[in-house]
Amino acid sequence: MSDLLATLSNTGIAKQLGLPTVPTLRRHRPGDPLLAGPVLVAAVGEGRFAKAVTAFVEEQGVPALTAVGEDRLHGVVVDLSGARTLADLAAAQQILTPAVKRLGPSGRVLLIGAEPAEASGAEAAAVAQSLDGLVRSIGKELRFGATANLLVVTSDVTPAAIDSSVRFFLSARSAYVDGQVAHVAAPVGNPREPAEVDDPRAEEQPLAGRIAVVTGAARGIGAAIADTLARDGATIVAVDIPAAGEGLARTANRTGGTALQLDITASDAADRLLSHLADRHDGVDIVVHNAGITRDKLLANMTEDRWNSVLGVNLGAQLTINEALLAKGSPLHEAGRVVCVSSQSGIAGNRGQTNYAASKAGVIGMVRALAPRFAERGATINAVAPGFIETDMTAKMPVATREGGRRINSLKQGGLPVDVAEAIGWFGRAESGGLNGQVVRVCGQSMLGA
Ligand code: NAD
Repeated sequence: MSDLLATLSNTGIAKQLGLPTVPTLRRHRPGDPLLAGPVLVAAVGEGRFAKAVTAFVEEQGVPALTAVGEDRLHGVVVDLSGARTLADLAAAQQILTPAVKRLGPSGRVLLIGAEPAEASGAEAAAVAQSLDGLVRSIGKELRFGATANLLVVTSDVTPAAIDSSVRFFLSARSAYVDGQVAHVAAPVGNPREPAEVDDPRAEEQPLAGRIAVVTGAARGIGAAIADTLARDGATIVAVDIPAAGEGLARTANRTGGTALQLDITASDAADRLLSHLADRHDGVDIVVHNAGITRDKLLANMTEDRWNSVLGVNLGAQLTINEALLAKGSPLHEAGRVVCVSSQSGIAGNRGQTNYAASKAGVIGMVRALAPRFAERGATINAVAPGFIETDMTAKMPVATREGGRRINSLKQGGLPVDVAEAIGWFGRAESGGLNGQVVRVCGQSMLGA
């Protein structure tokens, strides 16, 4: 169901009727620059990332400014990794206030802060934590599709370790990721050498040479994940149930990948998947647990069957396959990346979705518990939690529920399947080894569960 308000927003009729504006979000198109214009890069205290961010931005052909002038800004990066005192925080406000005034449509605010748990003293911890409230409030104030996000870094993190996250948050790939906080630690495994990252192919094909499994790839978000990872260079192994065989074959053909008809809840599913990967592809680099189902009913009317089928597909199958990936001799390569699809319902809860919300919250618990175990193998596991995404599922909602879902977020619209896929691609990069056990929402900064 198309978003009528968004369509009208770009016409004169909308102004005449006084309708609210729905911004057109800038999304990634191969060949486009990282940002269309200048970025302010500033540091407060002894920030150790500003220099590297400036160099990176300039390498992308984007001017990096050290002070706000007359130019419209397309991005603002403030390195607060060295901020310790309230005076440092006040200095940040002095930088941010004039900067956000000059920020253009689909602009980007990215703060880099220290890990509060590592701070020495209450003031430093308070200042580090304050960035959380600051960035979430900036996200709610920005207009015209601009976003604000925070990277929290541990003291052992080098500039190279945040490179893939800075790229993601500044670029159009993060169009629907707003008001989020991602924690970066020293990378697990062997990240790619900088020389390879500088390869001209690296930005357009950051997943070149990587094998990626996507479950539930026949349609919807899964099909978009397969398309997006393939666009970025990955070889796709598309998985779905036999009944979705036609859509599955279309995904495999479109992406030039292979199709595996498999019910992920079958007792031999993990064996069949891992054997397919070992025999046909010599292993796997990225596993995207996307397949999911809903069987909505109020808890008072919930049947055992509805409960078990949702928990089985959305959580049980992921637990079993992850154990198999962790087992000795598994085909998961070093720098392997497991990315799980959770949901805003798992964070905020949702009426009629006790089974679904329990399964999606369970995914978050699983990711956090397994992160250290994947790290031991030089791999990572993370989750994305989509909010309101324009799919067949949300098109079937009653009009009022659908309109509500679309508008109660900072970007005033639903996200697209590709927005979820882009966040998965960011976690999937070999250079993203500093992100482990993270849950990032792709929800346009939804007010639900925030
Ligand atoms: P969808 O129903 O369009 O697609 C899900 C796919 O998973 C289908 O192709 C289906 O055949 C497959 N699948 C179901 N059971 C399977 C099984 N046992 N084995 C293998 N494949 C199986 O759903 P979607 O909207 O694209 O959602 C994809 C994921 O995103 C799900 O995990 C969903 O919970 C999550 N999500 C969606 C939204 C949204 O707004 N659409 C919001 C939050 C989270």
